[in-house]
Amino acid sequence: MAPLLEIKGLKTHFSTDDGILQAVDGVDITINKGETLCVVGESGCGKTVTAMSILKLIAMPPGRIAAGEIIFEGRDLVPLTSSQLDEIRAKEIGFIFQEPMTSLNPVLTVGEQIAESLRRHENVTRKQALERTIEMLKLVQIPNAEGRVHNYPHQFSGGMRQRVMIAMALACKPKLIIADEPTTALDVTIQAQILDLLQDMKERFGMAVMLITHAMGVVAETAQRVVVMYAGKVVEEAGVDALFADPRHPYTQGLIRSIPRIDLDSEHKTRLEAIGGSVPILINPPVGCRFAPRCKFAMNVCTAKEPLLREIAPGHRMACHLGDPQLGGAA
Ligand code: SF4
Repeated sequence: MAPLLEIKGLKTHFSTDDGILQAVDGVDITINKGETLCVVGESGCGKTVTAMSILKLIAMPPGRIAAGEIIFEGRDLVPLTSSQLDEIRAKEIGFIFQEPMTSLNPVLTVGEQIAESLRRHENVTRKQALERTIEMLKLVQIPNAEGRVHNYPHQFSGGMRQRVMIAMALACKPKLIIADEPTTALDVTIQAQILDLLQDMKERFGMAVMLITHAMGVVAETAQRVVVMYAGKVVEEAGVDALFADPRHPYTQGLIRSIPRIDLDSEHKTRLEAIGGSVPILINPPVGCRFAPRCKFAMNVCTAKEPLLREIAPGHRMACHLGDPQLGGAA
């Protein structure tokens, strides 16, 4: 089956006073119909820029897609104009942002905004759009949807605003939802409710979800497949079970070791480990492996030669020189 979305060799760069910042540098990601793919990594790893590049939601300039293809249902989105992309936004690909206030219009009621999106993409009357909007607000469990449809975004709590955002993203029943850290700004209990809601909506509508997160706990709960990004590149990709059972890249291992384990008794508990150092500035990234300055396994080859993604088991790829047969069994 052909993938729903294929990102091939994507490079998204930003011009700065200090030089070109290579935020995304040769990324390949595939999303299949109906699956949940989590893209995980620390802040500054390029995951949000990758997601925003799909619909050209980055500021251009200073940003630009320097290379690559973004194939959605067989059509490359990169050469499309913004009015052509408007046709795809919401109708084919919905986007849920970290902070809904940045994408909800504060001077329009939430009902007006959802209905407007419906009317722009579908041939529905005002009355039908309002009915569909109320139906969507009920689906995302907004109490008293008939009354709340006339409220403004500031009249909702953070969690309820995120539910509104999900209703808006789902209104036109897109085939793909991109959710960029949708729970980061919320309390822990509300976070769990929003993730459950997203999963529930995904199953109800049969859409694919690309979930951007820095939290491995969220990945474990929601993903089917996982892409780990570091310093603008994909460093590991696997099914969620394989990734947690046998993480192979030292960066992925570090991310997993930083998750609190409440399932272990006190005898088996170990100290949480932070990954020392920080993500490099991507104007002059390190030569060779970009993780080398933070990697306790770094070898001479690591600072001389860039490790490329290679398959280490069916469906499991990583970019690390450890155990690479091409290096004559180095490490
Ligand atoms: Fe560490 Fe080398 Fe692997 Fe990079 S390539 S993660 S520095 S062992």
